[in-house]
Amino acid sequence: MKTDPSNFDVIIIGGGLAGLTSAIHLSKQGLRILVIEKNAYPKHKVCGEYISNEVLPYLESLDIDVFKLGAVKINTFELSTAKNKVVKAELPLGGFGISRYCLDYALAQKAIENKAIIIQETVDHIQFSNEAFTVETKQAMYFSKIVVGAYGKRGHLDAKLKRDFIKNKSPFLAVKTHVKGHFPRKFSGPS
Ligand SMILES: Cc1cc2nc3c(=O)[nH]c(=O)nc-3n(C[C@H](O)[C@H](O)[C@H](O)COP(=O)(O)OP(=O)(O)OC[C@H]3O[C@@H](n4cnc5c(N)ncnc54)[C@H](O)[C@@H]3O)c2cc1C
Repeated sequence: MKTDPSNFDVIIIGGGLAGLTSAIHLSKQGLRILVIEKNAYPKHKVCGEYISNEVLPYLESLDIDVFKLGAVKINTFELSTAKNKVVKAELPLGGFGISRYCLDYALAQKAIENKAIIIQETVDHIQFSNEAFTVETKQAMYFSKIVVGAYGKRGHLDAKLKRDFIKNKSPFLAVKTHVKGHFPRKFSGPS
């Protein structure tokens, strides 16, 4: 499929936090947005899932109420050792916890509500010539004068775009698990 370059004002590659908030923000301004995301929603993401309260005003401006989505307020940090020694600290600014499964899905739904189009394809190539980008997936080519690269970090596109940092090996491995149990909810809710 070849789409008309004038179909989209902005193409966003990647529908994580950066891509979806950009899609909502720009579609609220009346721009025609295409988000290309390789995975289907809802989807899990390895992430600590703590978000600082600093971003609340911005999320509100996007009409996202995280507490309606089940976010839990977090005002204390606790670190426990294997021997159950606990170090505690108050977090003056505070934040909230919400699963990326829930948050990314809600952002995607809001973007669609604002008339952004989200398609599930993997971008393989990006080229810039004659003042326009060509964004290529296995299924199609898309064109736009503006492309937002919101495909996360250390992806195969970074290698194709010859980003310097991709040559450095990363020694990190992250694992996430969600645990069900009886946890104190004294900080929960939007109080
Ligand atoms: C272990 C770990 C813990 C973290 N904990 C926290 C935390 O507690 N609090 C916090 O605020 N931040 C945390 N972060 C950071 C946070 O996860 C990132 O800042 C955030 O996810 C970045 O958002 P993004 O939209 O740039 O990228 P991502 O969320 O990674 O989204 C990129 C999207 O692009 C898609 N994509 C990738 N390649 C392509 C392609 N070729 N074609 C189409 N789609 C593509 C992916 O599927 C993905 O959906 C953590 C990160 C890690 C690794």
